[in-house]
Amino acid sequence: MIYLDNNATTRPSDAAAQAVHVALSSLWANPSSVHRAGQEVRHAIELARKELAALLAVPTKELILTSSGTESIDLAIRGVIDARDARDHPNHPDHHPTGPAETRPLNLVTTPIEHAAVRELTRHLEATGRVELRLLPLDSRGMADPEALPGLLDDRTALVSVQWANNETGVIQPIERIAEACRKAAVPLHCDAVQWVGKMPALRDEETKRRRDGVAEGVEAGERTSSLRLSVSPSLPCDLLTLSAHKFHGPKGVGALWVRRGVGLVPQTLGTQELDRRGGTENVAGIVGAGVAAREAAGWLADPTARAKLAVLRDRFEQSILRRVPGAAVNGHDCPRLWNTSNIAFPPLEAEALLMLLSERGLAASAGAACSSGSLDPSPVLLAMGIPEKLAHGSLRFSLSRETTAQEIDEAIEIVVGAATQLHRSSSSSL
Ligand code: PLP
Repeated sequence: MIYLDNNATTRPSDAAAQAVHVALSSLWANPSSVHRAGQEVRHAIELARKELAALLAVPTKELILTSSGTESIDLAIRGVIDARDARDHPNHPDHHPTGPAETRPLNLVTTPIEHAAVRELTRHLEATGRVELRLLPLDSRGMADPEALPGLLDDRTALVSVQWANNETGVIQPIERIAEACRKAAVPLHCDAVQWVGKMPALRDEETKRRRDGVAEGVEAGERTSSLRLSVSPSLPCDLLTLSAHKFHGPKGVGALWVRRGVGLVPQTLGTQELDRRGGTENVAGIVGAGVAAREAAGWLADPTARAKLAVLRDRFEQSILRRVPGAAVNGHDCPRLWNTSNIAFPPLEAEALLMLLSERGLAASAGAACSSGSLDPSPVLLAMGIPEKLAHGSLRFSLSRETTAQEIDEAIEIVVGAATQLHRSSSSSL
């Protein structure tokens, strides 16, 4: 089977799987125990945290380990809103009443093409009267318009939450320009970087090189890890950032939330772990595996030609299909995209029939959001991009991983072209 579906990137690397295995049998003590065995486990967690922080080039202390990207998103969004509410409370030390008591609800700005973890949560917060939801407009490629952002921000905006790259189309959002508008308005920005981290460098290549060469200003002494030195003034283009280990060949069930120092965040799960910011005994084996995956991803990212080669493979895949399958079209084209994602409409075919035939012939792909690929409703992301329902219904997503080979891509092209041609024939003969 050739995996060009979500599983392509979520297969744990051999080293990550091995680290999980070893940790399960040898690091079983509770990391909160003060005895030696407990402290060994604590040490292993802290080493993994360092590797994950190094992947983002942020100070280790600012990274909160969680159970998933979804939990990190929940903590970021609810945590910042609760902190803002607390600040607005008359008893808060930073509360400076300037007029009559505030009656306007807080508002939250996001896009209509976020992953369900953000989309469902923000809709829920709106439905329960917690916030007013404001949506950044998109162009037909699925890129948010940063020019429209200042008009949506005001003194009641608690948070802006925008993904770095889309999970269905790979379209990269203009996050630096969005960050600039947030900075000017003094509004915190949360970035769902689940699809970005591990596939693209958190810092620009030049900045990563400067830091690796040790010439960056403000390098924090003692924060040296296997891959990077960390700066005391992290230059990620946001204030909070979510990652998920299984998107870069780590185990499932490990996420992290980076929170810039000084950003108010109210914990959502009470407990003493994670410096009182997220209670619950840690998923030790998963975290250890995630640390190994982060170190491998940082090593892979250090060579930009590796991802350039995969982008060439993805482009070859798309161009061959567009040339050989009548009517096929790429959703989210002509704009910056992740090297690994391709979303193709095959009108007038239905995604379900095509997916099944591909699977029979040895190719795994996904329809709509992979996280809900059991459901074959048209993707809300494609609909929000203005793609007609008929095209959205017949769209498939193909994902490459850093392990995808040229031979797999060539075989996949033949399978897709063969299956689409067969279904086109049978649909025209049934007319
Ligand atoms: N955000 C994006 C963009 C995703 O693609 C996903 C999962 O695919 C998530 C959030 C949720 O992450 P997790 O599966 O770790 O909960």
